Amino acid sequence: MVKNEEMNHASLKKFLSELSFSHPVVQLSYIGESVLGREIPLVTLGEQNAPKSVLYVATHHACESICTSLLIKFLTEYVSLYEKNGSSYQININALHKMRKIYIVPMINPDGVEYRLNGVGENNPIRERVIAYNGGEDFSLWQANARGVDLNHNYNAFFDEYKELEKERGITQGRTKFSGEYPESEPETAALCNLIRYILPTLEGVITLHTQGEEIYYSSRGKLPKKSVHVSKILSKMTRYNLCEPSDTACYGGLTDYLITTHDIPSFTVECGRGTNPLPYDMLGKIYTDVREMLFTFPILF
Ligand SMILES: [Zn+2]
Repeated sequence: MVKNEEMNHASLKKFLSELSFSHPVVQLSYIGESVLGREIPLVTLGEQNAPKSVLYVATHHACESICTSLLIKFLTEYVSLYEKNGSSYQININALHKMRKIYIVPMINPDGVEYRLNGVGENNPIRERVIAYNGGEDFSLWQANARGVDLNHNYNAFFDEYKELEKERGITQGRTKFSGEYPESEPETAALCNLIRYILPTLEGVITLHTQGEEIYYSSRGKLPKKSVHVSKILSKMTRYNLCEPSDTACYGGLTDYLITTHDIPSFTVECGRGTNPLPYDMLGKIYTDVREMLFTFPILF
């Protein structure tokens, strides 16, 4: 079902439209639009009145869009197991579907992915500005959104402190690390935070996929929601990834920080695979083997 090539926004949207059309178990909607007007897909699995939910998010960073394919592989496997009343890791998918909602945002940064795969585009209204931020037309290492904001520094967690650090280090709009004007200044992060606030009454846990390092971050400056330690140990065992504490610029403005500090939700940043970003796409199968059990099991850990 998944083609052996990296997805951009157009191919993702087409794939999800077709999948949801032919498989009613897949509910497709959009949480908002990116800076350049690309709709941000949300897939919802699970029955309407399922009492608990989890959220999976991929590809804050454009160079890490192999993570989109990880969630698509999970989604297609879930659908095929559901339709044959099958199980994965002793979890019957039909039973899971009744008990848990799984919200999936497979590509939170579609514009950044487009820049990296196909360049900024001739008709991009901010073309000259973005080329200047990037220092040239080679976008192969671009991580940020369309206007040079690193989405995983744009959440409301230690934001003012990070602004000071940015000043000290001369970090401005560009391919990575710039946090934006204010928390949720970017339409992508605002859309995701609106979703989170909406689903908060049932939301039990969140996994955000990045690459690379084979590491799991589960705390924010020592703050730990009640179940975080217990769940992090299970996730570490399943993936064989190491548990880590964030350091330096990774301590500010990330989605995991925001969820832990503002909402007290157990949240995990999973750095998939090992190598240099962007990881080669042919590592997809190996990395999926690492994270597969985690993705199927996470919803029932709460
Ligand atoms: Zn990342």
